[in-house]
Amino acid sequence: MNRPIRKIGDPVLRRKAKKVEKITKETQRLIDDMVETMRAADGIGLAAPQVGVSQRIAVVEIEADENVPGSGKLYVLINPEIVARSEEEQVGVEGCLSIPGWQGEVARPARITVRALDRNGQRYRLEAEGLLARVILHEIDHLDGILFLDRLTAPDRIWRVEPKPARSAA
Ligand code: ZN
Repeated sequence: MNRPIRKIGDPVLRRKAKKVEKITKETQRLIDDMVETMRAADGIGLAAPQVGVSQRIAVVEIEADENVPGSGKLYVLINPEIVARSEEEQVGVEGCLSIPGWQGEVARPARITVRALDRNGQRYRLEAEGLLARVILHEIDHLDGILFLDRLTAPDRIWRVEPKPARSAA
């Protein structure tokens, strides 16, 4: 089920989300809904607070070929933790489904190692770089109530963008 995406100004986006203590049927349903909501919005990541649930869950999916839906790998991250980050940073442009119509420039570590539980509660480690690292860091920020606006390389490095055209129009 597609859930409404909370927009900036909604206090849930500024709350520190709670650790998931037990993965229940409700958790599974939430994850399914988050994946559906992310895909419907043409997003590459979504955190539970963005659908109004203050729990430490995020989903990330970057398509290998942007014209081929489902060509990427889907990551479910429950209680994610960054265990290592490179000193080297990468500057890139970010947007956010909760801040439609805006993009800004953010510096992030170029490479990270993250530890999380998958949707079955199995612990895994993931080494990520480039865009995947950026998206994971952006989503973990959401779990701590942080938005990309808080991390701009400079206060004026933000600008308006046209809404993304629908995939069918691409
Ligand atoms: Zn976001």
